Amino acid sequence: MLNLILFGPPGAGKGTQSERLIDKYQLVHLSTGDILRGEIKAQTPLGIEAKKYIDKGELVPDKVVIGMIGEKLDHNKMAKGFIFDGFPRTTTQAKVLDLLLAERQTSISALVALEVEHEELIKRILHRAKSSGRTDDADRNIIENRIKVYHNETSPVIAHYSRQNKFIAVHGLGTIDEIFERLTAAIDRL
Ligand code: AMP
Repeated sequence: MLNLILFGPPGAGKGTQSERLIDKYQLVHLSTGDILRGEIKAQTPLGIEAKKYIDKGELVPDKVVIGMIGEKLDHNKMAKGFIFDGFPRTTTQAKVLDLLLAERQTSISALVALEVEHEELIKRILHRAKSSGRTDDADRNIIENRIKVYHNETSPVIAHYSRQNKFIAVHGLGTIDEIFERLTAAIDRL
């Protein structure tokens, strides 16, 4: 299986590039942000709980997010692989993901990190806000908090996969096509 973590701060282009990568490599897209927004829309208890955190730009607690993953893996047993988009976001989540995959006789192939500088992230998210309708995209303070949370809580996931020799950095500025080329070049070398 090809199991990729598409990594990077909010606004790095994970969602956009995931759409293209799933087409090219026939992978199943697993975005915890998308799943959580679906739960909010359906007004489930999980969604109502998660919204409190998302609206502030904070992380939803590990146990809530982790509970959603095993089920998704089991629903897609015939998949050629997965793209994890926006997950894992803490080292606890990364350790649990490794265990869940090991239980299923597979593992992460690589963590591919899109690198984009701070001001560009803000610019992209504010632009996305015009069409995404996401409240967490529309407010500069919330965006700044999401980026801070990324640096404090999420970026240590890089070290976790570096230790496994699975970390690949990709320059995240340029056109969507250029970035996609860089990603596929890195993935095809795996
Ligand atoms: P995203 O669509 O990946 O930018 O996620 C939007 C928001 O959902 C984040 O700012 C978090 O509040 C929450 N979220 C998504 N994925 C996770 C995760 N793996 N762990 C904790 N919170 C998450």
